[in-house]
Amino acid sequence: MTDPGERLRGIGPDDVAALAARLGADAVSWPAPPRYREEPRGKLAGHPASALVRPRSTEEVSRVLSFCHERRIPVVPYGGGTGLVGGQVMADLPPLVLSLERMRAIRSISPADGAMVVEAGAVLADVQAAAAAHDRLFPLSMASEGSCTIGGNLATNAGGVQVLRYGNARTLCLGIEAVMADGRIHHGLRSLHKDNTGYDLRDLLIGSEGTLGIITAATLRLHMRPRAHATAFLAVASPAAALELLHAALAALDERLTAFELISAQSFAFMADRLPAIRRPFETAPAWSVLMEAAGSEAGEIEDRLFGVIETALVAGQVTDGRMARSERDRREFWHFRESIPLANRAVGAIVSHDISLPLGAIPAFLDEAPRRIWEIAPVRINAFGHLGDGNLHYNFFPPEGCDRRAYAALAPKLSERLYELVAVRGGSISAEHGIGRFRAGDLARFADPAALGAMRAIKAALDPRGILNPGAVLAN
Ligand code: ZN
Repeated sequence: MTDPGERLRGIGPDDVAALAARLGADAVSWPAPPRYREEPRGKLAGHPASALVRPRSTEEVSRVLSFCHERRIPVVPYGGGTGLVGGQVMADLPPLVLSLERMRAIRSISPADGAMVVEAGAVLADVQAAAAAHDRLFPLSMASEGSCTIGGNLATNAGGVQVLRYGNARTLCLGIEAVMADGRIHHGLRSLHKDNTGYDLRDLLIGSEGTLGIITAATLRLHMRPRAHATAFLAVASPAAALELLHAALAALDERLTAFELISAQSFAFMADRLPAIRRPFETAPAWSVLMEAAGSEAGEIEDRLFGVIETALVAGQVTDGRMARSERDRREFWHFRESIPLANRAVGAIVSHDISLPLGAIPAFLDEAPRRIWEIAPVRINAFGHLGDGNLHYNFFPPEGCDRRAYAALAPKLSERLYELVAVRGGSISAEHGIGRFRAGDLARFADPAALGAMRAIKAALDPRGILNPGAVLAN
């Protein structure tokens, strides 16, 4: 049915020359340097003939997109390159990789409005620091914050370790500026907290992974900066005990509870094996442990409340051992351990990784049943950890000790499918905070609600009729 003239075509030398003439030679590289053709786990290589463009302004992004729209050239938006679902690499055709790294300005910051306007290429840690310099908090926080960018955070609706209290990237965004597929600029940088004027383009573009438009700047929501933290690393009797502890902590601390992370013994074992220099909170790995943190204005008050919760849980046998952070250094060490778990996982080498969410109450039974059902397929090692407070677990499979992961690669689809079936029957999601990208597009087609999937395809066709924006991401070709 498709007219060959309507197909996408890979970028070639003539296109690169024409783009360089429009934007200046220093804005365009061909082929794109290797790091723009890689993703962190090395699971998908970008096309070797990909080109790179680094526009300096929203106006230049607009010119690039209208050029590519006209010539039907695929465009892959690129933030910090830290995404874990292959959204930043395209292999089947040489695309134009559009990096926003030159657009990293903090355009304005207004503590009085509780808002700051930043360009998409701003690194998350720089945005946090800019807010802190004005005695405010930008609470989005994750292990990759030193290299991931705000544009990528919004495009993937990223989560991280403080969603429990402050919400995910979507919650923290008041407005966006974006360039649509044909080059038109959407000027939506407002700092309104309420705005019911029809369909919400901001919410449509957030989480669209660069398939509906390219976010070039955003108005971000700022919070008051907490004056004090209370942090504890606790061994718990079971995931069910961890959940009871979560509810007790919420009852005592309410929104002052900012993080509640679950960690398995397998995480401790991988950390001891691969990153032995990083201090572990316990000599002997507990089967399950929890890292929890509260934040508030008075140190004494939140510490007392957190300690009260822990004491009650110790008496009830829900908590079996624990450490309170006695200093900022202790606190940093606890978090450094937690945030290094993905690095240890990468060093071991997963067969396949997952980012699932479940209703909170379903998690203990899921954690009990899933290993048995997975081991019916293969005796893999399982590392389950993540943001229990959000019902979000990272659930990753590794080869048995001493075995090569390549020997298990062929089983990966079967392992994932079994896991997703266990998630689906409990009303869970196959992607909580990492997005769909290219690695999960097939799973989305299989597990998404058909009406939702139909609407997604219709929206894609309406906003990107030539299909140039990140083709193959989110919606399988
Ligand atoms: Zn996470």
